[in-house]
Amino acid sequence: MKKNRIIFAVILLIITTSVLISQRKLAEPDVRCRMETIPLQGINIEVFHRYVTYLYKSGTLDIENSKTTEAAKMYIDSTLDTYKDKNPAVVFDLDETLLSNFDSFKKMNFSMDWEKVNYDSCTLIKPTFDLYKHVLDNNIKVILITARNEALRKNTVNNLKRLGITKWDTLMLMPKDMKWSDENTMYFKVNSRKAMTEAGYTIMFSIGDKITDLKGGFCDTTFKLVNVLY
Ligand SMILES: [Mg+2]
Repeated sequence: MKKNRIIFAVILLIITTSVLISQRKLAEPDVRCRMETIPLQGINIEVFHRYVTYLYKSGTLDIENSKTTEAAKMYIDSTLDTYKDKNPAVVFDLDETLLSNFDSFKKMNFSMDWEKVNYDSCTLIKPTFDLYKHVLDNNIKVILITARNEALRKNTVNNLKRLGITKWDTLMLMPKDMKWSDENTMYFKVNSRKAMTEAGYTIMFSIGDKITDLKGGFCDTTFKLVNVLY
């Protein structure tokens, strides 16, 4: 009888502990999620802009994004031998992936007016630039696909070269007659990856800050960076 009571008490303890652990796991906050959802929670916009500025100036955003770019480097290191003779390539988005528009948006008090963005003066996003160099060091091709309009090609190339991004196989910009929208961006980016695949590249992964950089296939995997600007 006493033995049965002890067994019952042990089983009860195990069940209670499991429930408590599972609840604790659910309650743990996700830093990346918190960063990206704050603007949706009705926070005072001036407070939010001060917070965004802090994330950039303190290097916190770079630290957060470097977790993703380090994972991308590990993906390269651990899988590269499987891409032998497959003409491997990596697709990079530009805005808020390799290039930062923070200075432009800060000057405009974060008004998000793309007509006024200075496309000649974007700054480098260091973790992604380190990944870009890692890609080149491993003789993997670089493909740049951006939703910027073809009319901005000259400004974009000048800006990239000034920042040390001088090597790529292809730079694809949205056709002049295509209007910007999420749907068109998705259509353009998926079809650009499809065209590169049909041209003989094997896209190891696509990296970008928006879901439109990642969805739609024609790449083996994807890596998502944090964008706190828009
Ligand atoms: Mg982007």
